Parts: sequence; structure tokens; C-alpha cells
Amino acid sequence: MTVASQHADKLDLDAIRADFPILHQEVHGKPLVYLDNAASSQKPQQVIDALREVDERFYANVHRGGHQLSNESTSMYEESREAAQRFLGAKSKNEVIFTYGTTSAINTVAHAWGSANLAPGDEILVTEMEHHSNLVPWQQIAQLTGAKIKALPITGDGLLAMDELPGLLSERTKMVAVSAASNVLGTINPVTEIVRQAHEVGAVVSVDAAQAAPHKPIDVVAWDADFVALSAHKMVGPSGLGILYGKQALLEAMPPFLGGGSMINTVTIDSFTPALLPAKFEAGTPPITAAIAFKAAIEYLENIGLDNILAHEQMLAEYAHQLLADVPGLRILGPAPHQKAGIVSFTVDGISPNDIGMMIDTAGVAIRAGHHCAMPLHARYGIASSARASFYLYNTREEVEIFVAAVRKALTILS
Ligand code: PLP
Repeated sequence: MTVASQHADKLDLDAIRADFPILHQEVHGKPLVYLDNAASSQKPQQVIDALREVDERFYANVHRGGHQLSNESTSMYEESREAAQRFLGAKSKNEVIFTYGTTSAINTVAHAWGSANLAPGDEILVTEMEHHSNLVPWQQIAQLTGAKIKALPITGDGLLAMDELPGLLSERTKMVAVSAASNVLGTINPVTEIVRQAHEVGAVVSVDAAQAAPHKPIDVVAWDADFVALSAHKMVGPSGLGILYGKQALLEAMPPFLGGGSMINTVTIDSFTPALLPAKFEAGTPPITAAIAFKAAIEYLENIGLDNILAHEQMLAEYAHQLLADVPGLRILGPAPHQKAGIVSFTVDGISPNDIGMMIDTAGVAIRAGHHCAMPLHARYGIASSARASFYLYNTREEVEIFVAAVRKALTILS
């Protein structure tokens, strides 16, 4: 028995699956096998109940009124921020900003921090495995400021080419934008080491944790990351909500991004002064219901234990690797299961990933096919798209078997 499968025994899968009502349905007359978790995960009853409870009993705008409901929703909103602070290991709740998702968190950093800190000749270092959300905002701010984008390559195994990092970092590097885990390869990146080297040249590091936060413990202080972004909908929480963590001094020094209500201290006809943190970066009415219910999602993951979740996913990925190993022409992208989150992306010679995805959907198996918002990564492999199965805490070994059997059957029809 491997270490991963010993850990996996810690998950009570029957109990976990019973918490997720959406899993208990048929698709095309077959039991649903949901393996599109890297796109969005499903919600346990605890989160569904929390969402409903807010709207039934506590909903009102936050930080606005002096009335009872507003006071209640405001204090629940702030309790959720404290849960997120604990989840991230942040020192202060002022460092935890509610956003609309990872994309809006990264845009906030790129535009607010970038507009104040980048100049012609400065460099932004990204990696070849980034999601478009961690590329395009940097390209946009580079265009506005005259900064240049450079990229850390990946190895054939789908790991970051860490030996090339020192050569790419210099005093011109002002920002290093890197994902903690890849949404295509699953690769878990050595964030602490990247931050260490980046800080040596004086660069700031922004970590895209959209694919790490659902699957492994995060400690922003141990990482020493300057900014960290995540999305609630990938971690059994609601959509339309994310977190931007930022070190307090950096958040205080940079200008606000969006302007409007809540983010101000005073306003005159032609000027404003910004609010203190965290309100400074929370312009307008936030996603109130989602933010409050996010606490239930965080508690759900904490109760099960992020270490246990990662071990379970790695066990499933290892099983999928084993079962797919002798499928003719099938190539798995990315590293060995113990080096990644539970993501298995693959191509099959001469067969379109889309066709595989559509065909196995008829067997009730939900995967994703396409470029997964990572066109440069696919270009690096000389392909336009891939098929991706992504596992989460409620998936079973039996589901891996159903998935692989469906792929094999699809290939006999498609080839
Ligand atoms: N970064 C990574 C690594 C992702 O996987 C995703 C979503 O797939 C994002 C960023 C964007 O997240 P969102 O669409 O929730 O803003």
C-alpha cells in the first residue's frame, strides 16, 4: 500500500458523498461521475444550507445600515473573513480582501500594484504553465506601463525549470506571478523557493492559488508570498467569490483598483480619500450571500483536513495513471501523481479531446476538453487542446474505473 492510499483511508467517502446532493443523479441514464472539479467543484449540503439561511434570515447590505439585519449580515461577513484569514494563515484580517474570484483578485494586483510600481524596462516574470487569468492581466499592465513579460519554462515532465530561475531573475524583475498548482498539469510548484529567490532580487511575488487552495494546506506566511489569489467555487464554496491576500504594507501602499461606494473615507466633487483596509479594495456591494456562506465551505474542508484531501486525490490520480498506462497512443501531460494535485490531462494520438469528452459524457462521465485557459502551455507541448479529468474529495476509485472504461470504449469507436 502506498503512502497516498494509507492516507486516503482517512476519508469516509460514504459520509462525504452523502453531503453532496448533486452527485446522486443520473446523466444520460448513467450515474453521474463528476470529474470536472478543476473547473468548479460541487457544494455540500452545509454550504447549500448556509446560502439559503443567509437569504432567508440574515440578508441585508453590509457595512451600510444601522439596522438589525445589516448588523447581523455585516458581522457574519466579517466572521467569514476571519475564517479565510485562518485558512490562509494570514497575520491580519486586513490582509484578506473579498473579490469576485481569482481573476478579479489578480486583476486588482496587476492594475493597482502594477500602475504604481512598474515602469519601462521593468520585468514581470510569469511561467509557461499559467492560466490566462495569471497572464492577460500582466500583459495588460505591461502594455500600459512599458514593462516586459518574461516566462520561466517548464520541463518535458511538466515541472517548472527551476534551474533556469536564477538566470531569469535580475534587479529588473519587479514582479513574479506564479501559480501554486497548474490547472492542466496539476503540478504543485515550489512556491517558497520561488519567493525566496525572487525576494533576493527585490521582486514582489503574486501567487495564483486557485488550484492549490482546494487541495492542499496553504500558509501565506510560510510561503512569504506578497499576494495570493483564490476562488471559492473550486473549494466546495459558492461562485462569484474569491479572496485576495496581500501583505498589509503592500496593500496600504498601493492605490485602490475599483472606485465607488465602501472603498472611500471622504469624497468631494473632485477628490476622494480611500478607506482603510480591507474596505479600500472592496468597492461596491460585495457578493454578500456567497461571502458569508464561504465560511461553511472553509469549515467543511478544514474538518476533513487538506492533507487528507491531497492524499486522497493523489491516490486517485495514481490509480488513473495505472489504468491508463496501456491505452494505445494515450499520453498523460505533467508529472507523477505524487508531484501534483488530482488532475490527469491527456491526449490520444489522432483523436480530438473534444470527441473523447463528448463521448464519455454519454456514459455519465463529466470531464473537460479544450485548452483549459492555458494556450501557451498547450503550445509548449505542440498541441491545441487536451482532455482533463480532475478529482476531488468525493471521487472514488470506482469512478476512476468507470472513467477509464468509458475512455477505452470511446477510443474503440473514435479510432
Ligand atoms: N487560475 C487558475 C490556476 C485556475 O485554474 C483558474 C480557473 O480555472 C483561474 C485562475 C481563474 O479562476 P476564476 O475563473 O474563478 O476567476
